[in-house]
Order: sequence, then C-alpha cells, then structure tokens
Amino acid sequence: MEIADQKVVSIDYTLKDDDGNIIDQSQAGQPMAYLHGSQNIIPGLENALTGKKAGDEVSVRVSPEEGYGERLEAMTQTVPIDLFEDRDSVREGMQFHAQTDAGVQVVTVTKVEGDQVTVDGNHPLAGMYLNFDVRIADVRDATPEELEHGHVHGPGGHDH
Ligand code: ZN
Repeated sequence: MEIADQKVVSIDYTLKDDDGNIIDQSQAGQPMAYLHGSQNIIPGLENALTGKKAGDEVSVRVSPEEGYGERLEAMTQTVPIDLFEDRDSVREGMQFHAQTDAGVQVVTVTKVEGDQVTVDGNHPLAGMYLNFDVRIADVRDATPEELEHGHVHGPGGHDH
C-alpha cells in the first residue's frame, strides 16, 4: 500500500540539525503514527513520504519554509518580570504556553536581566534545516472516525 491522503502511516525517524546533533527521534519499537494529508506533520516531510510504502527508507533535508518557518525577530520581546505569576521561577530556557493572536504557542525565555525578561515566541525549530532519516514501518487505511477527527487513534497516535 502506497502512502497517500487518508492513509495512517507509522514511521521510525531520527531528526538531526545540520551539525549532526540529534534533535528528536522515535523510541525503538514505538513508531510515530500520523494521518497523511491532514497537516499532522510538517509539509516537507509529508511531501517526501507521499508514494512510499512500508519498508522504504527516506532521507530528506527540509528547509525552514517547508518546516517550522523562518525565525521572526518580531516574535521576540522584552517584558517586565512582574507579568509572571511566580517571578522567582523564571529562568533562561524555561518554556511555557501563551495565548497569542495566532492561538496557543510555546514561548521560550531567552534572557533574564534584572526585572526584564526576554521571551521568544518562535517555534524552537524555526529557521532550521531539518534532516530526517525515516523508515516506514506501516501504512494502512484510516478508519472513518480517524478521518473525522483528523488524527490517528491507537498505538503511536491519540489515546482518547
Ligand atoms: Zn480522535
């Protein structure tokens, strides 16, 4: 069965940056499952997998445009530490969810200086080239319920 829209695809993958550092990877024996064509994964990876089948191995370098977007300086801002409920817990590298005009986003604290905190709303992988090594573990038809929800149920997917 070839990978196409409305197929459930299970993949083992390793994600590296351009220096070869591992950023993310699936656990051995626990492939990640996603619904193809439903924007469950970034476009650059999804496009590279279209038409492939179980057992195939795919290596692809995804540009920021096809990944998590370019870094936008405008998404970095400096705010007073008083905006944080627990100001003593604010540390560089801390991440939290914030309600923004674009919905809920992960925001990272990049600098704490006196009572000023610099926060960065860019996705942590924005602006990066992403090198995926993928092995396709399984391809199957999605159930009507999965299509309705727009995501995969069961192992490697949603559990609800
Ligand atoms: Zn669901």
